[in-house]
Amino acid sequence: MNSDLHTLGAAGLARAMAAGRVSSVEITQALLARIRAHEELGVFLALQPERALAEAAQADAARARGQAGPLTGVPVAHKDIFVTDFARTGLPSTAGSKMLAGYASPFDATVVARLGPGEAGRGPGAGMVTLGKLNCDEFAMGSSNENSAFGPVRNPWDRQRVPGGSSGGSAAAVAARLVPAATGTDTGGSIRQPASLCGVTGIKPTYGVCSRYGMVAFASSLDQAGPLARSAEDCALLLSAMSGFDERDATSAQRPAQDYARLMQQAREGASAARPLAGLRIGLPREFFPAALAGDVDGAVRAALAELEGLGATLLDVSLPRTELSIPVYYIIAPAEASSNLSRFDGVKFGHRAARYADLEDMYKKTRAEGFGPEVQRRIMIGTYVLSHGYYDAYYLQAQKLRRMIADDFQACFKSCDLIAGPVAPTVAWKMGEQGDDPVKAYLADIFTLPASLAGLPGMSLPAGLGAHDMPVGLQLIGNYFDEGTLLHAAHALQQATDFHTRAPAGF
Ligand code: GLN
Repeated sequence: MNSDLHTLGAAGLARAMAAGRVSSVEITQALLARIRAHEELGVFLALQPERALAEAAQADAARARGQAGPLTGVPVAHKDIFVTDFARTGLPSTAGSKMLAGYASPFDATVVARLGPGEAGRGPGAGMVTLGKLNCDEFAMGSSNENSAFGPVRNPWDRQRVPGGSSGGSAAAVAARLVPAATGTDTGGSIRQPASLCGVTGIKPTYGVCSRYGMVAFASSLDQAGPLARSAEDCALLLSAMSGFDERDATSAQRPAQDYARLMQQAREGASAARPLAGLRIGLPREFFPAALAGDVDGAVRAALAELEGLGATLLDVSLPRTELSIPVYYIIAPAEASSNLSRFDGVKFGHRAARYADLEDMYKKTRAEGFGPEVQRRIMIGTYVLSHGYYDAYYLQAQKLRRMIADDFQACFKSCDLIAGPVAPTVAWKMGEQGDDPVKAYLADIFTLPASLAGLPGMSLPAGLGAHDMPVGLQLIGNYFDEGTLLHAAHALQQATDFHTRAPAGF
């Protein structure tokens, strides 16, 4: 049994523990051995095996006392954009940046606390075992994980190819079965796109569903946390545990935590066992299927859509006319917010400080020039520019107006459909280094994930089979605000009927 523990997802591991077949300590040991055997993937930035085993022993003891929840003792790893209490975990919090190398956070992010030990004075957490911190693009800026200051992550389906980004470590760790589930964050696609490129399932909930407290800020009006796992069922379990109102995040949605596993199972009116999605209307925006879309991606996405149709869903044509504009809009708003958020890294309050400098101004300049990588510096410059006097109206204000119109376009679609579907990324994972230093090329590839981010809508990526070079293709489903239940229900129905999500890369 212990030799194939890695093949079980989060729910499967929980069931095996509940049945007394295996302990959390045994699971943790097995996964730590796999993580050590696959260091070549560059997935982990920090591990604390001893502390993980101690947490697992605590989880086993809780289970023995009859105090186990649905995720107690299941291992998880966190994107290194979430801060972890250094005194508790021994894990630094770097955001993939030299600026924060070795940074010891004095507290846990809300998401980390809720999945793990719970929040002091606010009740217990889910009791998951924290294995370590996962590599990501620096400050979550990127789509290939090549912007990490600590080296790239390799895609387990082909080690010469990128895993996507910015949650590349999270997606690769789940795809390589080093962890059953991981946390990620999505500002403009960073959960959905790496999930797609690595063939795993990921959900970015409605903006405000997960607390941003303790998430290193990139673009605060867009940043959202979410899980990456091997199935919609596992995502539902994690999302239930990590979400819910948090008074420490001013934009946290004032709604109680939902039981997404129950919503996922809830039968739809008029549905039957053979047609669980009867009555579900799925809109296909014509802008999501442009003539230039890669044929393999188009084919895999349409095959998955045909499966959804076979399960009773109705497909209809809709339009999101401002899809293309989401690229300039996002690449004005996100850098603008980043330039403000990243001003805190000045060599005084956090992290890196230049060793030698003449005066205070020189210290700021040298610290920031040394601490930030090229993509982060580029975004700070763009952001500062678009916010500057004289350009604010021309760029930032216009972008804000368009953002509202993009959100309105979605609401027009949701008058006739329940979900919206399309590809996640225009191609399968590309070769490392292929984008060279052409950032615009990378920006353009975000076209299908940016619209839902700008609108604040929930979106999922689901494995939809393999495309060119036998690399995974993802199907994107987008729901209306706070309708994660319908998203997860459709995704679960698809995964009950198909095996796209159970395929693993060769050798894993
Ligand atoms: N690829 C996008 C960017 O580089 C999205 C990143 C994200 O969602 N964090 O900004």
